[in-house]
Amino acid sequence: MSQRVEKAVEILKSTGVRMTPQRHAILSYLLDSMSHPTADEIYKALEGKFPNMSVATVYNNLRVFKEAGLVRELTYGDASSRFDANVEEDHYHAICTKCGAIRDFHFPYLQDVEEAAAESVGFRVTGHRMEIYGVCEECQKKAH
Ligand SMILES: [Zn+2]
Ligand SMILES: [Zn+2]
Repeated sequence: MSQRVEKAVEILKSTGVRMTPQRHAILSYLLDSMSHPTADEIYKALEGKFPNMSVATVYNNLRVFKEAGLVRELTYGDASSRFDANVEEDHYHAICTKCGAIRDFHFPYLQDVEEAAAESVGFRVTGHRMEIYGVCEECQKKAH
């Protein structure tokens, strides 16, 4: 069990959440893959190991993790939400327009934009969202 998973389990236990093998598997998948999966992708990755698991189980667990502050839900209009287990570091996402892969990257210089916005429109700013679109390395290789 990785340290990240161990720490997350501790956080869940401290909020009174009971650990089940399925819950543990979903949590490990999220924290170890860091691939920003959809609920469906998590389900497909784990259904072999847990034949009794349903997509609803995955959703319920994701909600529990979200409430405990362990994952962030990334919404994309009508498309399926993706779940980000990297909540410790502020980061941005580069999204592949061919396969949907999401990669994290850091660009702390943009924090100033929140101050600029607050000054300019008088908001109490709570966050911002920026995404980069393009074709990931894997998909670039496939194209050749
Ligand atoms: Zn791609
Ligand atoms: Zn991320």
